[in-house]
Amino acid sequence: MAIDLRSDTVTRPSAAMREAARDAPVGDDVYGDDPTVNELEAAAAERVGMDAALYVPTGTMGNQIAARVHADRGEEILLDEQAHIYKWEVGGLAQLSGLQVRTFDAGESAVPTPEQIRERFVAEDLHRAGTGLLALENTHNARGGVAVPPEGIDAAAEAAHDLGVPVHLDGARLFNACVALGVDPERMTRNVDSVMFCLSKGLGAPVGSMLAGSEEYVERARRVRKLFGGGMRQAGIIAAPGLRALDNVERLAEDHENAARLAAGLDDIAGLRAPDPDTNIVQVFSEEAGLTADEFEALCEAEGVLAGAHGEYLTRFCTHLDVSADDVDEAVDRIDAAVSA
Ligand SMILES: *Cc1c(COP(=O)(O)O)cnc(C)c1O
Repeated sequence: MAIDLRSDTVTRPSAAMREAARDAPVGDDVYGDDPTVNELEAAAAERVGMDAALYVPTGTMGNQIAARVHADRGEEILLDEQAHIYKWEVGGLAQLSGLQVRTFDAGESAVPTPEQIRERFVAEDLHRAGTGLLALENTHNARGGVAVPPEGIDAAAEAAHDLGVPVHLDGARLFNACVALGVDPERMTRNVDSVMFCLSKGLGAPVGSMLAGSEEYVERARRVRKLFGGGMRQAGIIAAPGLRALDNVERLAEDHENAARLAAGLDDIAGLRAPDPDTNIVQVFSEEAGLTADEFEALCEAEGVLAGAHGEYLTRFCTHLDVSADDVDEAVDRIDAAVSA
């Protein structure tokens, strides 16, 4: 069987999740009548220390709703040039909300400095668009699953707030950051105005993400969710496995251990470089082996190990719920044999 390390989204729902889906009490969630969705929204809000939360089908929709609610058409959103919201969401900021993007380079820390924010802030006037939102990301996907400490989030958020700019946190893997750093999610989100997190990544749910914020913010988000076509009916069927997924937070530590094990194993292979990861995302550089990422990915696939090319010489491996330490060792052995052949 292939060892699938392309993403932490590839997990299959557990028996308990399938059972929960089957047995979930449901109603029409557009009318607010689905008790399972309501339970999930309350549980999610509490987990991240926010007043309310909204169940959305995907992280992408959650982020795009967040931007639409915070910023007005024609405003600017400040983002890292490697941010998922900017790079991997089909230009949704422009297409769905009429926003333009102003980027910064967050570098290895994966979070902007207060100076970077102040330098890029634009006050609205006759000629200029004006800054409507700052978006942060934790863990930072494209920068290698970097776990940003709460102090970094706080400093950026305070700088934005001092300028009257709200802050959204793309926390698709928020709990990976919290578990890696030993920080309460509530502490991590204390100074942001909204946070999105995915149930369908490391937590193992088949579908779903949450967007959390104040009561008023989430009410506005609910209306935009309807606009974007995300108002779902008996959604308790998919929300029920999402509730079970919240039980999988602490075990993310295993994924992090497996990722460290994978990185160490791959780094030992001549020609490959794999820096020690913060969380469950391992970046592998194959230039010295004379392999582009596409070639390396193909070579791994031929050995039954699936990964994803993410740059010219950069390939991403993700550990998750359906990958054991033995699978990791097996993957390293197979890749070693192929690269060293
Ligand atoms: C995966 C991801 C998303 C989007 O989530 P989907 O459910 O795939 O739409 C957003 N932000 C980050 C950082 C992600 O890794």
